[in-house]
Amino acid sequence: MAENTALKAPVQVTRSTLPPLDAYMDCVRDMFASRQMTNQGAYARRLEQSLADFLDVPALSLCANGTLALQLALRLLGLNGKKVITTPFTYVATLSALLWEGCTPVFADIDPETLCIAPAEVERLLAEHPDTAGILPVHVYGNACDVTRLANLAEKHALRVLYDAAHVFGSTLDGKSLFAWGDAAVGSFHATKLFHTVEGGCVIMPDEEDKRRLDLLRAFGHVGDEHKCLGINAKISELHAAMGLCLLPGVPDMLALRARKAALYDEALHMDGNPALRRPALAPGLTWNHAYYPVIFPNHASLVRTLTALSRRDIHPRRYFYPSLTRLPYVRSPACPVAEDMAERVLCLPFWPEIDEALIAEIAEVTLKETHA
Ligand SMILES: *Cc1c(COP(=O)(O)O)cnc(C)c1O
Repeated sequence: MAENTALKAPVQVTRSTLPPLDAYMDCVRDMFASRQMTNQGAYARRLEQSLADFLDVPALSLCANGTLALQLALRLLGLNGKKVITTPFTYVATLSALLWEGCTPVFADIDPETLCIAPAEVERLLAEHPDTAGILPVHVYGNACDVTRLANLAEKHALRVLYDAAHVFGSTLDGKSLFAWGDAAVGSFHATKLFHTVEGGCVIMPDEEDKRRLDLLRAFGHVGDEHKCLGINAKISELHAAMGLCLLPGVPDMLALRARKAALYDEALHMDGNPALRRPALAPGLTWNHAYYPVIFPNHASLVRTLTALSRRDIHPRRYFYPSLTRLPYVRSPACPVAEDMAERVLCLPFWPEIDEALIAEIAEVTLKETHA
C-alpha cells in the first residue's frame, strides 16, 4: 500500500483532541487521593456547571454516552413507546435510541441544501400520522435545523421536540446556544466529537425540575433507600468528567483553528466556483463549529473513485452518513429520495484542528483529480 506523503500513520477521518497529559494526571492523582471515582463526584459536578455556563443553558445532566442520553431524554419527555418523526440522514444511534425505547420512527426526508430534516416533510407526515407524539431532529454536522419552523409545528400539533445535538457543540444561531431549543437537547461527548469526555453525553433541558427527574433516571431511580422510578445506570465516571474539564478551556482556540483549516480545504478544493463539488448550505444566522468537513460529490461514482484513490494512500475519509437509515435491514420505511441520494454522495474528509496543511493539499488534489476524471 502506498503511503501518504504528509504522514506515515494511516489517516482517519478525525483525531481525538487531547489535553496536556500533566493536567489530566493532576486530576487522576487527586482522584487517587479522594478515592471518589464515580457517582456524581466533584469532577462530574464541576463539569456540569462549567458546561451549563459555557453553553448558556439553565440545566444540564452528564451521561455515560450520547446514546443513553437520547434514551433517557425520550423517557423524560414521555415519548417512549410513541410515534416519533425523525431524519434518516444521521448516525444510527439516533434511530437505535428510538427503537430501544419502543418508539415507532417515521422518517421525514431532508432539505437538499442544509441536509437537516425538512419542515415541509414533517408537516406532510403529521397529516398522515396524526398519532405522532414528538419530533427528533438532528443538527447535522453542526449546522442548524430550521428550529423556528419546527417549534411552530410542535406548538400547532402539541408535539414534544427532542434535538439530537451531538454535532452542534460550539455552533451558535444568531449568537445563541442551539442547545436551548426544543423540550430537551442531547449532546454526545464521544472521543471523535469536537468536545469530548472519551465516552460521554448530556441531556440539556430548560427546566430544573426535569433535571432532577433525569438525574434519577440516570442513577437507578433511587436516592438512598427511597426508590422513586425505574432507572438505569447512565452515570459518567470521574475519569471521564476530568477529561472534559481539561479540554473545555481549549475549545475557543480549537474552534478558531477548525475555521482556519476548513478555509484551507475550501481554497485547495476551489470550493468558490467549483461546479462539481459543493458543501451543505449553512442555516441563516449560524456561526458554524466546523465539526466536520463534508463534501457533496456530483455522483456516487466520483465519490467511490475518490475513496479508492485516497485509501491507496492510506487516507480514510468516512461516509457520514451512509446508508440512509431508511435502507437498514431492520427498518421498513417508505423511501426518502433526498436522504438516499445524499447518502450516496457525501463524504467527510479527514479533519481535526491540527491537521497538517500538506495533508489537506494532498487530499484536495486527489479529490479534484477523481471528480473531474
Ligand atoms: C455520536 C452521535 C450519537 C451518539 O453518541 P455516543 O456518545 O457515541 O453514544 C448520536 N447521534 C449523532 C448524530 C451522533 O453523531
